[in-house]
Amino acid sequence: MNIHEYQGKAVLKEFGLPVSKGRAIFSPDEAEAAARELGGPLWVVKSQIHAGGRGKGKFKEAAAGEKGGVRLAKSVEEVKEFARQMLGNTLVTLQTGPAGKQVNRLYIEEGSDIASEFYLSLLVDRETGRVAFVISTEGGMDIEQVAHDAPEKILTFAVDPATGVMPHHGRVVAKALGLTGDLAKEATDVISRLYTAFLAKDMSMLEINPLIVTKDGHLRVLDAKISFDSNALYRHRDIVELRDLTEEDEKEIEASKYDLAYIALDGTIGCMVNGAGLAMATLDIIKLYGEEPANFLDVGGGATEEKVTAAFKIITADPQVKGILVNIFGGIMKCDVIAKGVIAAVKAVGLQVPLVVRLEGTNVELGKQIIRESGLNVIPADDLDDAAQKIVGAVKKAA
Ligand code: GDP
Ligand code: MG
Repeated sequence: MNIHEYQGKAVLKEFGLPVSKGRAIFSPDEAEAAARELGGPLWVVKSQIHAGGRGKGKFKEAAAGEKGGVRLAKSVEEVKEFARQMLGNTLVTLQTGPAGKQVNRLYIEEGSDIASEFYLSLLVDRETGRVAFVISTEGGMDIEQVAHDAPEKILTFAVDPATGVMPHHGRVVAKALGLTGDLAKEATDVISRLYTAFLAKDMSMLEINPLIVTKDGHLRVLDAKISFDSNALYRHRDIVELRDLTEEDEKEIEASKYDLAYIALDGTIGCMVNGAGLAMATLDIIKLYGEEPANFLDVGGGATEEKVTAAFKIITADPQVKGILVNIFGGIMKCDVIAKGVIAAVKAVGLQVPLVVRLEGTNVELGKQIIRESGLNVIPADDLDDAAQKIVGAVKKAA
């Protein structure tokens, strides 16, 4: 789960990290009030969307002006004017894709005087099984670009969970960023607090880009992008409350209500599969035969008829879907339950596109019989290869 920058900064503030004062607002009037309260003389008006690259982004609507999604303002009037221009309009950045994202809230922040900008992030490094830091002097830049153009400017190290962040990590970071004296001490303090926050809140990624040195010689977190491990959200009610559903795919929200592991993709073949491994194999084989999957969907091991029906509805609601492949291996899940679910769903929502069903495992004969006797236009398949060829063939024929 992702949260907005201002929410991330509030979380980091709880852990004693240095962030600027700011207010989240939803209207130009609120922007004006926030600007007065903060006092100036410099403010930053920041679009709150779940995507980075806002500063260099562009609004689609001419009324939003030429400037990007992060703007420096020098007066209360200017803050209000920027809010008027940005709210309700669509910001396109490198990370939003061409469709962009509508800006519905802004963060009005006290402006900082920047002496230098750094990059700092923490993530779970699956290779070492530890939390790793990624640090670079190239702050404010796209880190993937830095990794490509100047990999020597990036420092990474993993932290031993038994010891946590140690003074030597601090020295390494200070040296890499060219910080000495009190600033080096602040760097050690910052990375140690970030590590504590990362573990305490079960984050999967925490990116500060940029971490700055202010002109008066202190470190400050100027941007914060945080993702949380969804599997641990049950123990972080405070974090769950920060979820902004308007930032998420509607189909994914609907799927999460039924506890379905669903991820929307760009292709044409809707997939209903049980088990993440089988689901990935299904996506691969669809690609192998020359089509693209419209989604990843794992209905799980113990899906009920109701859950299968919901899954089917979500798939058919996607206008991009030109064919559906149901690929189920009945272990704990029984093939007759799947068959009944599919038929109930088809009866409820109708079937405008070809449907291939491949069943195998527990109660497979019963499942196949239920489908045969349903009178519905379902194309049966015997194995994964056969199923993939049949659905790709049917979609190509219909096109
Ligand atoms: P992003 O473009 O989505 O990564 O948004 P950021 O929050 O990183 O802001 C983009 C850029 O705006 C930063 O890299 C800074 O250069 C600039 N910026 C943000 N806040 C301030 C500020 O308080 N003062 C100044 N002078 N520049 C800022
Ligand atoms: Mg940034």
